[in-house]
Amino acid sequence: MNELRNIAIIAHVDHGKTTLVDQIMRQVRLFRENEQVRECFLDSNDLERERGITILSKNISVRYEGVKINLIDTPGHSDFGGQVERVLKLADGVLLLVDAADGPMPQTRFVLKKALELDLQPIVVINKIDKPDARPDVVLERVFDLFVELDASNEQLDFPHYYASGRDGWAAQELEDARESLRPLLDGVIGKIPAPEVHEGPVQFQVASIDYNSFVGRIGIGRVYRGTLRTGMPLTLIRRNGDTEPAQLKQLLSFEGLERRETERVPCGELCAVVGMEDIDIGDTVADAEHPESLPFVEVDEPTVA
Ligand code: GDP
Repeated sequence: MNELRNIAIIAHVDHGKTTLVDQIMRQVRLFRENEQVRECFLDSNDLERERGITILSKNISVRYEGVKINLIDTPGHSDFGGQVERVLKLADGVLLLVDAADGPMPQTRFVLKKALELDLQPIVVINKIDKPDARPDVVLERVFDLFVELDASNEQLDFPHYYASGRDGWAAQELEDARESLRPLLDGVIGKIPAPEVHEGPVQFQVASIDYNSFVGRIGIGRVYRGTLRTGMPLTLIRRNGDTEPAQLKQLLSFEGLERRETERVPCGELCAVVGMEDIDIGDTVADAEHPESLPFVEVDEPTVA
């Protein structure tokens, strides 16, 4: 699916993840409505309310230039151990956000290491450039050194980088470029992060995280890695220990903006939430009942703080 990108956002706490995502959401909506970004920005008083919502939601998506971009929130802390890998496995690339004054911090390092090991394409954002004590050149060099230290491949070392102020709503490839909007960064995501690979064949979906809702019970959130997931199709739930059980979807939800929207089919590469399997768990595979093949399960590492 060429019109899809799955990108995980990695940042040390407070480096501006929430603010940047809020601004991206506001701006893509404004681009679409063909309004003047600057005017609305100063006028809008929705920001605080939206911030609250964004903080609570894990997977959100934006549509930009005909491409759906799934923004995947990543737990930054090593306490999450293997959970970080599973969430990163949903993505084809990472946006690494680094504070232009603080530079890389322990959580940046921990999650970046996992992302590089999973061969994800990184994009680096030196954020909060507006800070008086910002030192973008030094911080970019520190980030590069960190990549080297973490054994990044040559391709990963060649990471595209942007300077940005999430707060002020702009990103630029060079420090002297115009500071107008986040378009350059979004263009970078579309241009540099690969579209998910499409594998034809019997459907395989893997659960990366679990959500719970008192009306429908456990909800498995994950990615379709092969084929197309459809409501009503006969499925098999394959547990981590190899046990299998017949399964059926009660509901299939895709991520649209801040919402989850009911859908009947989810193509390969896309993220979704599955409802109707009572004891579904992280790492389980939902597969075509006639070809119940499991996806490899990512083992939980012992937490390590580098
Ligand atoms: P998160 O923990 O990574 O989600 O970070 P937040 O988005 O909550 O931001 C943490 C703090 O940094 C808040 O006080 C924000 O207002 C501030 N902040 C976020 N982005 C910027 C920025 O671009 N410039 C400046 N100066 N402050 C920012």
